Amino acid sequence: MKIIMLGAPGAGKGTQAKRISEKYGIPHISTGDIFRANIKEGTALGKEAKSYMDEGKLVPDELTVRILLDRVSKDDCKGGYLLDGFPRTIPQAEVLDKELEKAGDRVDFAIDVEVPDESIVKRMSGRRACLKCGATYHVESLPPKTEGICDKCGEKLSIREDDKEETVKKRLEVYHKETEPLINYYEKKGILETVDGMQDAEEVFSSIIAILDKQG
Ligand code: ADP
Ligand code: AMP
Repeated sequence: MKIIMLGAPGAGKGTQAKRISEKYGIPHISTGDIFRANIKEGTALGKEAKSYMDEGKLVPDELTVRILLDRVSKDDCKGGYLLDGFPRTIPQAEVLDKELEKAGDRVDFAIDVEVPDESIVKRMSGRRACLKCGATYHVESLPPKTEGICDKCGEKLSIREDDKEETVKKRLEVYHKETEPLINYYEKKGILETVDGMQDAEEVFSSIIAILDKQG
């Protein structure tokens, strides 16, 4: 099963992706997490990606596509995978489709998690992230058991640099211009599914499971 998570930054893609990946036993691949891991390790890729991320811009397609195709070629992706934060542009989606087609394969589901812009800034300002295992929390709606500490791996939680209000606004602008057209792209392919991201996280998860189990 190959799944794509669509939705604005902060819509809850990563939160749901973790749960789906655990339930269905497929790897959760987040291009944002890959970039952040590289930034943490101080690699050349990390340095390049950081210059775009800190400004709320997208990392160029060429670089992002290379990283993604390399990741999905790994053995653990043979039984399917879940992409979170990729594709973010039409050209990225086209490259992915072409690569899959070559292998006689295709994306099965594109799940759009819908949250209005007004709620996004609030979500992002309370987001706390684990830079070690990628888990995400919210100080009010999804707090960790111990304040500031990741439930899953015990790492200290961080505030993402790109979650500052001005950067979030820029990221939303970029989302509407570059990424939202993907909704139409996948709708035309007949694989778009929409869920209401304003429900609580458990309810969003149940809605997604209902979609995957009905047709999967
Ligand atoms: P994305 O991966 O789409 O950028 P995240 O999964 O990191 O978004 O979620 C953004 C913030 O909103 C996090 O702080 C997360 O804990 C919180 N969050 C996620 N889903 C919900 C929800 N259904 N209701 C309230 N808060 C949520
Ligand atoms: P995310 O963790 O998905 O919110 O991504 C954080 C940042 O990483 C984005 O704001 C972009 O700068 C960059 N990024 C992640 N995925 C992509 C992608 N598919 N294309 C371009 N930039 C990306």
